Formats: sequence, structure tokens, C-alpha cells
Amino acid sequence: MKIHKPATLQEAAGLLAADDSAQCIAGGATLVAMMNSGVVEPSALISLANISGLNEVTKASDGSVIIGAATKHKTVAAFDSFSGAQNIVGIAAGKIAHPPIRNMGTIGGSVAVGDPAADYPTALLAAEATFEIVGPAGSRSIPADEFFDGFLSTALAEAELVQSIQLPAGPENAVAVYDKIAKIDGDIAIMSVAVVMASSGDRCDYLRVAVGGCGPTPYRVAEAEVKFINGDLDVAIELLVAASDPMSDVRGSADYRRKVLPRVLRRALITAQQMGGGE
Ligand SMILES: Cc1cc2nc3c(=O)[nH]c(=O)nc-3n(C[C@H](O)[C@H](O)[C@H](O)COP(=O)(O)OP(=O)(O)OC[C@H]3O[C@@H](n4cnc5c(N)ncnc54)[C@H](O)[C@@H]3O)c2cc1C
Repeated sequence: MKIHKPATLQEAAGLLAADDSAQCIAGGATLVAMMNSGVVEPSALISLANISGLNEVTKASDGSVIIGAATKHKTVAAFDSFSGAQNIVGIAAGKIAHPPIRNMGTIGGSVAVGDPAADYPTALLAAEATFEIVGPAGSRSIPADEFFDGFLSTALAEAELVQSIQLPAGPENAVAVYDKIAKIDGDIAIMSVAVVMASSGDRCDYLRVAVGGCGPTPYRVAEAEVKFINGDLDVAIELLVAASDPMSDVRGSADYRRKVLPRVLRRALITAQQMGGGE
């Protein structure tokens, strides 16, 4: 099999556009397993390994953080300049699988798979991330709440690639709670809840809550966030549970997910309050 090693992402997108059954490979954690089991049989692989600047995390002067698409999970988990809301992404990275997978997998590969139970998608939604995309037609940006558009599906068009993920500065005093429920430590989540909460004095005035593993995509409910800020924890939880559409799989039944989700939401929201997110 031909393995291409382009020097730029534009070149990689051009190679993908020229061959329908070629696949881009980043860490290979998911793709190689799919090839081994015969789920995909690419005609060629387009490696991102030689593209410079794609595996770095940088903090910009406006406080935003830019994560290159080929950055490994372990590098994101170890990055020490996240602040406020951005911390949710570092925490989630540290909860992906176990060290061998965190040494191998990349953020771009993870989001491109579009698994609603993966750790990054939920955290990136709560962090209000923006995805920078490169394709044969040029570059564009996609906000996280438009990127995940269905089960194992994303808004990436044919031959488009993720270049980087931008995390806005957000409220500096925000606290971040990432609650992952899995059968065993290191497994993909049955469900996950990402909370970013900030306060003014002792009152919560900023909340982003994202739920993963309980529907075809991770999701937020803006009305629930407003209800919580206005002091109605129970209604906020009801709205978030009402928006779920869980399925049954090897990790847990839809019924189990419906029963457990309100408890996980309550625990994550109360934990964030106790950490200083505000009453
Ligand atoms: C045993 C095991 C346990 C795991 N546990 C977890 C877990 O607990 N939580 C979790 O979130 N994930 C988990 N994963 C998934 C893991 O995080 C993978 O790293 C991730 O899904 C894919 O990243 P990768 O870089 O290896 O992508 P690859 O396997 O190289 O590629 C995956 C797909 O993404 C495409 N792709 C790669 N990079 C880009 C890009 N920049 N732009 C567009 N498309 C791209 C590829 O073409 C391919 O279709 C697990 C995986 C394994 C094997």
C-alpha cells in the first residue's frame, strides 16, 4: 500500500481529493484497528506525521489556546497554560483510555471519528471550541456545536481535514468538572458530563454544560444553562435529560443511561458550585 507523507495539510487534502478511497492517518489508534478488522480497506494512507506545526499546543496573546490537530492526547493532558474554561479540555484528555492510547491518539483523529461517547467532543462543546479546517477549496472555521452533526458523523466535507482547534479564553475564573462514567477505568464512556462554571461574587453567572454518550452527538441545552443561573437546578437537569436520546450498546442500555444521567448531572453541577462556580 502506498503511504504518502505530505509536508503541508493543503497537500494532504489534495491527495485525499484525488483518491476517494485513500485515508488520512494521524495516531492510527482507531484507523489501524478498523483496517485490522476489515471495516475499512484504504487504497493509500496519507500520513500527517511530517506536517510541521500540527502537533503543538500554543497560548495566544488574547488568552486563547490553539491545539494542532496531530497533538497527542498526552501532550494536551500535560499542557500547563490552560486557564479557566479551557481546563475542561486538558482534564478530558487525561481521561482518555490509558497511557499507550494517550501516547498514540491525536485530538484531530478523535474529533474526526465523531464518536458521541469520546471524551474530547463533550469537553470541546463545553469549552465553545472552534475547528479550523483545510480542504481542497481552502480554509474555513466550524464551531463545535456544528461540527458534530450525527452519530459517527461530522461537518467535514470530502477531503477536508482538521488543522487545529481553538479554545477561546472564556471567563478566567471558571471552574471545570468532567465526569466520565465508564464500565472500567480507561474504557470509552457510557456517558460523560462536562461543566464549565463561573461566578460573580457567590452567584453563578456563566455556565456551559455538555452531555456525551446520551444521543447521536454530544449536546448542550442553552435554556437549561439559563435556568441553572437563575437558581433552578432541578429544571436545568430536567431539560438536559429531556434532550437526551440514548441508545443501548455493549456498554449500557438506553434505560440505564436515562436513569443515571440526572444523577451524574446533579453531581457535576454541585461539584462545580463547591469548587467556586457560584450558588
Ligand atoms: C483501546 C482503545 C481505547 C480507547 N479509549 C478511548 C477513550 O476512553 N476515550 C476516547 O475519547 N477515545 C478513546 N479511544 C479512541 C482514541 O482516542 C483515538 O486516538 C482516536 O479516536 C483517534 O485518533 P488517532 O489520532 O489515532 O486517529 P487515526 O486512527 O489515525 O484516524 C481516525 C480517523 O480520523 C481521521 N483523521 C485523523 N486525523 C484527522 C484530521 N486531522 N482531520 C480529519 N480527519 C482526520 C482518519 O482519516 C481516520 O478516519 C480509544 C481507542 C482505543 C484503540
